[in-house]
Amino acid sequence: MKIKRIDVFQYDLPFSGGVYHLSGGRTYTSFDATFVRVTSDDGIEGWGESTPFGSTYVAAHARGVRAGIEEMAGQLIGMDSRHVDRINQAMDETLVGHLHAKTAIDVACWDLFGKSVGMPVCDLLGGSTNQRMPVISSIHGGDPEDMRRRVAAHRAQGFMGHSLKVGTAERDGGPSLDAEKIRACLADRQPGEFFLVDANGGLTVEHALRLLRLLPDETDIVLEAPCRTLRECQSLRRRTNVPIIMDELATDDDTIAHIIAGDIADGIGLKISKGGGLTRGRRQRDLCLAAGMTMSVQDTVGSEIALAAILHLGQTVPSQYLNCVLDVRSMVSASTAKIDAPIFDGGIVAPGLPGLGVEPDLALLGEPIATYGN
Ligand SMILES: [Mg+2]
Repeated sequence: MKIKRIDVFQYDLPFSGGVYHLSGGRTYTSFDATFVRVTSDDGIEGWGESTPFGSTYVAAHARGVRAGIEEMAGQLIGMDSRHVDRINQAMDETLVGHLHAKTAIDVACWDLFGKSVGMPVCDLLGGSTNQRMPVISSIHGGDPEDMRRRVAAHRAQGFMGHSLKVGTAERDGGPSLDAEKIRACLADRQPGEFFLVDANGGLTVEHALRLLRLLPDETDIVLEAPCRTLRECQSLRRRTNVPIIMDELATDDDTIAHIIAGDIADGIGLKISKGGGLTRGRRQRDLCLAAGMTMSVQDTVGSEIALAAILHLGQTVPSQYLNCVLDVRSMVSASTAKIDAPIFDGGIVAPGLPGLGVEPDLALLGEPIATYGN
């Protein structure tokens, strides 16, 4: 099961909704995706994806994924693809950081591992809970009534959670318009629905406090990634009783351990490519479970191969700790692989096939843009 060849593919995934608006005036129209195919010496193939959410979201960018793979690939040829901790050790010894570049290789090794033993990846990660996982929508910032309509459209498709993006600049309406957006989106709330108010680190403490004061006391929300720094989030946490979960600031094992030790949040938004893949994701899941933190399992964005990694990790989190998973398919208008993972009855389950359970569309992905090994 030695790694014989690593092929790299690239594809631009268009955003399905035109222009995606995040706090701070950040906008996105498409996402530059990198796919990796790892082939073993006995001919088994494993696939992984890493799709950063543009270069203004977290410290990751698409060309960095491919440059990082180029830096590391030579060291991995000849290694046993099932020894995922050793693969990650070799990557760390070759390139410091750059977890988004390590993700596609790591996930491909897990896919290959699963196929080699005839088991789905979630079973290798500890075993499926066999629970249907609630799926969360991603409601980018906009006019309050338009956001309310988009929540309704996702509700109609079976989404049980909704991630509402806030962080309106003062000149555009500030905290009062953010409060209006939240009230509009919660207006038609159904039993069992879950609402995250996600600022993607875009609020000052002052903005966050003003926003929360404008909401009725009984408003049932979780505030996600309110501020840019841990210090600000900690300051906010001392002055509000609204649950807070971390996302962009929870970048690796160390920051998650720090957030837990400092009691800075009630939960963590895990993202496969932000966290470095499934080997690290497994450890981050266990850190959260040990601390009693809730989790969402997501990725920055991506297509079917990224979704498969999300579903297999999410499927191993006990349901009382799993807020939701993100179906990244809802964010892009291209399909890069076949996957048997429909949303119905309020949720989704990981594919039951060996490995990730995806069949990449080679006609769409085209020829590799780089090959390492032979
Ligand atoms: Mg988030």
